[in-house]
Amino acid sequence: MRIFNFSAGPAVLPGNVLEQVRDELLDWHGRGMSIMEMSHRGKDFTGVIDEAEADLRTLMGIPSNYKVLFLQGGATQQFAQIPMNLLDGRSADYIVTGSWSKKAYKEALRFGAVRLAGSAEADGFARVPTAGELKLDPQAAYLHVCTNETIHGVEMFDLPVAPEGVPLVADMSSHILSRPMDVSRYGLIYAGAQKNIGPAGLVIVIVREDLLCKASAITPSVMNYATMAENGSMLNTPPTFGIYLAGLVFKDLIAQGGLEAVERANVAKAQLVYDAIEASGGFYRNPVQGPFRSRMNVPFTLANPELDAAFLAEAAERQLSGLKGHKSVGGMRASIYNAMTVDGVRALVDLMQDFAARKA
Ligand SMILES: *Cc1c(COP(=O)(O)O)cnc(C)c1O
Repeated sequence: MRIFNFSAGPAVLPGNVLEQVRDELLDWHGRGMSIMEMSHRGKDFTGVIDEAEADLRTLMGIPSNYKVLFLQGGATQQFAQIPMNLLDGRSADYIVTGSWSKKAYKEALRFGAVRLAGSAEADGFARVPTAGELKLDPQAAYLHVCTNETIHGVEMFDLPVAPEGVPLVADMSSHILSRPMDVSRYGLIYAGAQKNIGPAGLVIVIVREDLLCKASAITPSVMNYATMAENGSMLNTPPTFGIYLAGLVFKDLIAQGGLEAVERANVAKAQLVYDAIEASGGFYRNPVQGPFRSRMNVPFTLANPELDAAFLAEAAERQLSGLKGHKSVGGMRASIYNAMTVDGVRALVDLMQDFAARKA
C-alpha cells in the first residue's frame, strides 16, 4: 500500500509511473532484460535518453542554443562544478536566501574571489532580498540564485535583474517543472532529480552554449560541461535507470497538460496548506512572508513545540510520512511536489485542523 509521503527528498514519485517501471522492470519492451542491464551505447538506451531530452525541451520550452546534460553527483557537486566551469578567473555573485544557496556560496569560495551580493539571513530567511538591497558586480562571471529554498520554504517568483551580460545561474532542484519558467532568462539551470524528477543520482544541467568555453584547465573531464555536451552526457556511463525514469515522469507531465496545468494544481495544493496555517489562529505558523512562500516546501511550527511528537505520531497513524522539519529549523515541513496528490494534501489539512481543534 502507498502512503502519503511528504519527504523533502528523495521524495514521492507518481504512482502510475512507478507502476509502469515495475511492469517493465524485468523485460523492457520485449528485450528480455531490464533497462538497467542494457548498454548505454545501444540503440535502445540512446533512444530513451534522446526522448527524455526532447520531452524536457518540450515541457520547459528550452531554446535550441541551450544544451541539456544528464549528469551525476547531485546538486551539491554542481556547487563546485559551476565555478570550475564558469568562473573563468573572475569573480561571481551569490544571493543567499536559505541553506542551499549558502552552501553553494561557501563551496564557490574555494575556487576564487566570490562575492555575497545579498542575503536575507539577518531576517531569518523570511523573504528574498529586494533589488535595492543587492550589491551586484557588473563584471561578475555569473549571478547565482537558488529559486526554491527547500529547507526554509522560500521561493523566488521574481528573478533579480542581473547586470547586462552577467548570466543568471539557478539551483532549481526543488521546484523545477512545478510551473513554466522562461529558460532564456538563465545562463544555466541545474536540478538534482530526487525532488521533482526521479531517483537520486541524476542531476540535470541546462546550459547556454556560449558559456561552454570558460572551464578552468584543471576541470576534470567528467565535470566539464563542454566535454559532457560534446559526448551527449556519455563521456562515461550515465545514470541510465535515473534517466529512463525521469523520461517517464516528463511524459506523465506532458500527458497532464504540461507545466501550465501542473502549476494550477500546485497553486491549489499550496493554498490548502497555507490556508490551514493562517486559519489556525497561531496554532501553526509559517515564518516566510506571503509573496515568497514556496509552493513546494511548506515549513511550519506548532506554537507549542511540546506537541510536535504527538502531531507526528498522529500523522503516522493516518499514513502521512516525512513531515518532521529539517533539523536546522525544527517543527514540521510538508513537501508537496508535483507527485503529491491533492488527496494527500487534504489528508494533511484534515489532520492539522483536527489536531488543532483538540489541542488548542
Ligand atoms: C536537495 C537540494 C540540494 C542538494 O542535492 P544533493 O542531490 O543532495 O546534492 C541542493 N539544492 C537544493 C535546492 C536542494 O533542494
